Amino acid sequence: MTAPLLFKGGRIAAEDRPDLIEADVLVENGRIAAVAPGLPAPAGAEVRDVGGKILVPAMFDVHVHLREPGREDKETIESGSKAALNGGVTGILAMPNTEPPIDSGGMVRFVRNLARDRAVVPVWTSGCITKGRKGESLAEIADMREQGAVMFTDDGSPVSNPQVLRRALEYARTFGAILASHCETMELSGDGAMNEGRMSYRLGVPGVPACSEEICIDRDLALARVARGRIHIQHVSSARGMEIIRRYKEDGVQVTCEVSPHHLLFCDEDIADFDTHYKMNPPLRTREDNARLLEGLKEGLFDVIATDHAPHTRFEKDRDFREAPFGITGLETALISLYDRFIRADAFGWDLLVRRYSAEPRRLLGFDPVPIAEGGAAEFLVFDPEAVTRVDETFMRSLSINTPFLNRELRGSVEQVVRDGQVVLDRPAGVVP
Ligand SMILES: [Zn+2]
Repeated sequence: MTAPLLFKGGRIAAEDRPDLIEADVLVENGRIAAVAPGLPAPAGAEVRDVGGKILVPAMFDVHVHLREPGREDKETIESGSKAALNGGVTGILAMPNTEPPIDSGGMVRFVRNLARDRAVVPVWTSGCITKGRKGESLAEIADMREQGAVMFTDDGSPVSNPQVLRRALEYARTFGAILASHCETMELSGDGAMNEGRMSYRLGVPGVPACSEEICIDRDLALARVARGRIHIQHVSSARGMEIIRRYKEDGVQVTCEVSPHHLLFCDEDIADFDTHYKMNPPLRTREDNARLLEGLKEGLFDVIATDHAPHTRFEKDRDFREAPFGITGLETALISLYDRFIRADAFGWDLLVRRYSAEPRRLLGFDPVPIAEGGAAEFLVFDPEAVTRVDETFMRSLSINTPFLNRELRGSVEQVVRDGQVVLDRPAGVVP
C-alpha cells in the first residue's frame, strides 16, 4: 500500500462551480479521503505543497488516433497514451481507422490487449460501423461491443450511403450503442485542402466548402430521427453545422456533438504561409466560425471537447500544402492551450473546461466523472497557472510533432497527475513517462 498523500494549499476546480475553492486534499488507498481547508497530515503521509496551484479533475478525450496497428512510425498505443498523460488526459478513446481497421471482435480484443500491456493511461477503442470502413455492409458491431468497443464510427470518412447508416442506427439502438459520425459529403470535398472561401481563392488552394459538412450533419440527424437512434457528431467546424445540430436537439433527436480546440483557436487566415500544421479535416473555417463555435460551447450546445489527435510523420507534413495529410496532434496541448487562450483571458472558466473535457466525455461513454470530492476516485491534475510550457521535442511524448504550437510557449503547465491514488506524472521531479 502506498503512503497517504496530502496536497496542501491548492485551489480546486469543479464542473458545477465557476469559482475555485481553497482546500487541502487527502488521498488514501487510491481514493479521496477528505477535502477541506487545514487538513492535518496523517502519520506517514507525504505532504505536497501546492500553494498557488489548481487541482483539476483529469481530462478524458473521446477522439484520438493512435495509428496502431499499421502506422507505428506515427504513433503507438504506448506513445499516444504517454502523450495523453503529458497533457493531463487520463483516458482516451481510440478511433478505428488503423491499418487494418478495427472492424471485428478480434481486432478490438487485439487493441485492448496491447493497451492493457503497454499504455500508461486507460485506452478504450471504438469499432468501425462498416466492414473495412468501405461504407457498404455493416461491421460486426455486436461482436465488437462484446469485446469492449464503446463507440462505432467510420471516422476519417462518412458513411456515404444513407441506407447503410440508417440500418446501423436502427441496429445500434437495439443494444444502446453509440454511433459517431464524421460528417462530410465526399463529392463536395473533392480534392479540397482548406476551407473554401476568400482565403482559399487568394492562396489558390482547392477548397472544401462548409456545406460539405453541413449537408452531411443534416442528413445524419434526419436519419437518426427516423431510426430513433442515438448519434454523436464528431469535430464540428462550421457554425451553420452547429445551428443544424441545435435544431435537432430542440426537436428531441438524441444527438451529442464535439468541438476540437483547433476549431476554436484557429481559422483559415492562419494558413497564410502554407504551414501544413494548419491543415486538418474538417478544415479550419473562418474567424467568425471560431467566435460562433465558442459561443456554442459556452451555451452548452457542444457536449464535449475532443482533440481529434491525428499524428503524422514530419516527412509527410513537410510536403506541399495540397499533398500533405490532414490532421494535427492535440493531446499534449489541448488543456494548456485552452487555458492560455480562453480561461486566462476570462472567455470562460475552469468549470466549463472540467465539464466539457473531463466529466461529459466520461458520461458520454457511460463512465463516472472524477470530481475532486470526498469518497471519489483520486484522478486529478496539479496545474500551475503561472508556469510556461514550451511545446518542443523535449516536452512532447507523441512520436509526431505536427502541431501548430511546435516551439511555441503556452502559459500554464500540468505539473503532476494523480491516478489510482498515485502520482504518475511529476514534472518538477522529472517523472514524465
Ligand atoms: Zn474525422
